Amino acid sequence: MKVIDLIQPFKKTIFSFELLPPLKGQNATRLYETIDELIEFNPAYINLTTHRDEIEYRPLENGLLEKKIVRKRPGTVAIAASIQHKYGIPVVPHIVCGGFNKEETENMLIDLNFLGIKNILALRGDGLKSENFFVPEKNGHAHANELVEQIVHLREGKYLDPDLKNKSSLDFCIGVAGYPEKHSEASNPETDLFYLKQKVEAGASYIVTQMFFDNKKYYHFVDRCRAAGITVPIIPGIKPLALMNQITMLPKIFSIDIPEEFAAEVRKCKTNEEARQVGTEWAILQAKDLIANKVPCLHIYTYGITDNTRQIAKTLL
Ligand code: FAD
Repeated sequence: MKVIDLIQPFKKTIFSFELLPPLKGQNATRLYETIDELIEFNPAYINLTTHRDEIEYRPLENGLLEKKIVRKRPGTVAIAASIQHKYGIPVVPHIVCGGFNKEETENMLIDLNFLGIKNILALRGDGLKSENFFVPEKNGHAHANELVEQIVHLREGKYLDPDLKNKSSLDFCIGVAGYPEKHSEASNPETDLFYLKQKVEAGASYIVTQMFFDNKKYYHFVDRCRAAGITVPIIPGIKPLALMNQITMLPKIFSIDIPEEFAAEVRKCKTNEEARQVGTEWAILQAKDLIANKVPCLHIYTYGITDNTRQIAKTLL
């Protein structure tokens, strides 16, 4: 089932949990346990992140550094299909531009189609930690709108090789990312919105937002999108704060604000457990307000942690 058909026409707010594929070397047991702990809350679908190759420099005995290309969380395609078949819930694998050329992306999409996956969240991905800005792969995409275009071409039966015979159409429902508080690299909110509209016009059916801790930012973003002519559903992303230091880390990593009222409560906490409880309660307040305002779906960034996500889902269902 396609995400767009789950959220339109609107009946009631549904849930999606965002999960990470296992670290290299681990099997999928913990991931399945995580899903087992969340399944009673009837997620309408599950998002699964993708992680590009990273470059690490490891010290050698001779004092020099060895450059290693490391893929810490491989397997998104296989795990996405495995979850979808095991639980009978649509899975939305995230596909990124970074680290993949167009040919590799096309082959990945062909695999996903064979495996019965019908949904994709199309993203650019971040630059390598060793680079100051995002560098596309040779013959890869520089921005998510180009990736959306490639996926739409496959829907139209247009593959990279124009001489291919007996081509069939690959029909994925495409979501893209939106940033209520502006993407960190965008020069201003208007430019960011311009490019968001470009992704939608390229063929995205819905938008999922970056996490935010102040619902006013989401509502303002939706108003700005509507004024700019973006009419697709905009799914809010909620992240329950799980550790005390996230109060300073998250704004740095994601260019987002933490409201002072919330930050002040977290500052009073003596332990991570206390901070996590405050974070969960804040996420519940956010979620209740969003549901009252009839958002189509709540996208919960779980980071593989279930106790707080369960507490949120229990309160809301
Ligand atoms: P883009 O839409 O390409 O935008 C990136 C920047 O370029 C923005 O500043 C935008 O304004 C600008 N821009 C956009 N199009 C153009 C253009 N055509 N020309 C010039 N400038 C342009 N990352 C992962 O690695 N794996 C994941 O699984 C993952 N999941 C995510 C899920 C969600 C819901 C969200 C919100 C983010 C996720 N990310 C993930 C992070 C995401 O990859 C980063 O935020 C990345 O920096 C931007 O991705 P994007 O798709 O928004 O890029």
